[in-house]
Amino acid sequence: MAELERAQVIAQNLSLVESRIEKACKSANRERSEVVLVAVTKTYPVADVEILANLGLSHFGENRDQEGREKSANVPAHWHFQGQIQSNKIPSIASWAHTVHSLDEKRHCEKLARSLPEGKKLGIFIQVALDESPGRGGVAPDGLAEMADWVLTFPFLILHGLMAVAPLGEVPDQAFGRLASIHSVFSQQFPDSSALSAGMSDDFESAIAHGATHVRIGSSILGSRSNPL
Ligand SMILES: *Cc1c(COP(=O)(O)O)cnc(C)c1O
Repeated sequence: MAELERAQVIAQNLSLVESRIEKACKSANRERSEVVLVAVTKTYPVADVEILANLGLSHFGENRDQEGREKSANVPAHWHFQGQIQSNKIPSIASWAHTVHSLDEKRHCEKLARSLPEGKKLGIFIQVALDESPGRGGVAPDGLAEMADWVLTFPFLILHGLMAVAPLGEVPDQAFGRLASIHSVFSQQFPDSSALSAGMSDDFESAIAHGATHVRIGSSILGSRSNPL
């Protein structure tokens, strides 16, 4: 696709997503400014990130270290890592990411903190497991407070709040309803960490209705990925 044509498609998609976000905020009686749009650029080329940056976006999300490292070196922005954390990739992730959404193990937390370049701070969301099936990542709701206390022992980790992905096969409204109750308890315990990262292309309206402050949207903006991660 010609470059100009690609830029037009992306601009059009982004404006549709933007109006869906505005509408969802309105229905939830929330301000648009309460919700950060993180454009998930995984599998897409840096040229697409540049198009989005030119359209005014400044938050980008990646699932893989190498892609994130390469794109962030080319496009200055706030870079989010939201993938499964592999221990051996942590020093690299700590070098380019500004925020990590998917913390679910204490030992990763410690390694992230130790790997940070001098003077750098790293935002942290703790991933919540919304289903019972082990292996899909996330901390069980009854382990969140302990994990949060642990994150707070590291002065250069800034605990923003909680993150979740709606389980496959469950109605998002139901899963995010459960998340909202977990989030409400958590925010009372940790009032300085009340952000909530939830919602993807297919379910962000529901996430916004249930209090999401960060939505992570990829395919609605850039098109469906041929090799889904
Ligand atoms: C891929 C991904 C997204 C974006 O998903 P889309 O359906 O493309 O909007 C958001 N969050 C996480 C954790 C992802 O892996």
